[in-house]
Amino acid sequence: MMAFPERLTLAFLRSAVEHGALIANGVAVQTIIGGGGRVFGAHVCDQLTGQVGEVRARVTVNATGPWARDVLAGSPLTESIAGPPPTVRSEGIYLVTRELSTTMVLTVSGHGHFSFAPWRGLSLIGPTETPYRDAVEDWRLTHASIEAFLEEINSASMVPVRLGLDDVVAAYGGLRPLTEQNGEDTYNASRASELVDHRRDGLAGIVTATGGKYISSRAFVQKAVTALAKREGLTIRRSSSATTLLAGCLPTGEHTRHAGGIDERTVAIVEQIYGADADDVLAAAIERPILARTVTHDGIPLAAVAHSARHESPRTLLDLLLRRTGIGTVGRPADDDLAEMAQIAGAELGWDAARITREIADARAGLGVPVD
Ligand SMILES: Cc1cc2nc3c(=O)[nH]c(=O)nc-3n(C[C@H](O)[C@H](O)[C@H](O)COP(=O)(O)OP(=O)(O)OC[C@H]3O[C@@H](n4cnc5c(N)ncnc54)[C@H](O)[C@@H]3O)c2cc1C
Repeated sequence: MMAFPERLTLAFLRSAVEHGALIANGVAVQTIIGGGGRVFGAHVCDQLTGQVGEVRARVTVNATGPWARDVLAGSPLTESIAGPPPTVRSEGIYLVTRELSTTMVLTVSGHGHFSFAPWRGLSLIGPTETPYRDAVEDWRLTHASIEAFLEEINSASMVPVRLGLDDVVAAYGGLRPLTEQNGEDTYNASRASELVDHRRDGLAGIVTATGGKYISSRAFVQKAVTALAKREGLTIRRSSSATTLLAGCLPTGEHTRHAGGIDERTVAIVEQIYGADADDVLAAAIERPILARTVTHDGIPLAAVAHSARHESPRTLLDLLLRRTGIGTVGRPADDDLAEMAQIAGAELGWDAARITREIADARAGLGVPVD
């Protein structure tokens, strides 16, 4: 079971940057721009600062998952090719609880299946498969969804437990980017990936790449890039991504050097999460013992906050806790710990006192179990 898939996405991005890509975190497409039957790029807006800009490209790839149709529908140039909104989408959620089983247990119930997976000394239960009919931008994880899933777990699960809201330490969810709709039956709808060249709609220079599974995404991108290069008459190098380690990965069997004096549990989780960068994180904890203090049940130290803030471009404390360090994915930290982590991150990122207060409030609201 992967400890922290968000860092796999980060590893994809870091690898792309090592090969010359420019990336922008937290920057949204506002309008797709172009003229004369061709897309040139997009007007974009930084979601944090409000700064606007323009990105120009030979080919624009709309890879916005469940939002892909709405991004097209939101621009005058592409509105007519967006197609009608789907009548139903598929919501999936996961709940995190204390460890209920040390082996993976799969339950097949009336409308799908879910598992109890042992994960970081806890249980990760899910996913659900629930029809969702409202706008994508309005989707959020609600108490109602969590309570409905708890009811299903209590009535159908193979694990003899009765769970209530108090047992849930964290919850996640999202909408699946399905490529085809099969009536109301989102469970059996296709998970195939799909590359749509909008030249078929009379607009060149833009493709939509959507659907699929996380696990098949590398192969899908290889196929998509090869097809785009051929179409645009570009010569590209043969892809080596199937056989090359991603940036920051530690080859199997290799271990960190800087483990002296640090708790074994911390070494294990830092290696698992930080891979080749574990040495740097542990060295910081050894040099500044204050950073060796752990802030999760499985031993993630404050040094992880300092390292990620300095080297991994988080935009907010919530971003840092959920998508860099894995501290926030196992529940909401204690208020004192949150305040200390905000100070450490703020010192690296130049936040003033007012910003630190705001970051703590946003992180408190965004972690744990949502309040409707
Ligand atoms: C509950 C759940 C469980 C899943 N389990 C699995 C699993 O076990 N295995 C598996 O392989 N797959 C799984 N999937 C599917 C997997 O998550 C998706 O297939 C995958 O995330 C699709 O990747 P993507 O990059 O196409 O879209 P996404 O991951 O959805 O990324 C789209 C991105 O576009 C951004 N975006 C939206 N609008 C704009 C805009 N206007 N401008 C700029 N950016 C924008 C979004 O913020 C988002 O970051 C699961 C999905 C869910 C919801």
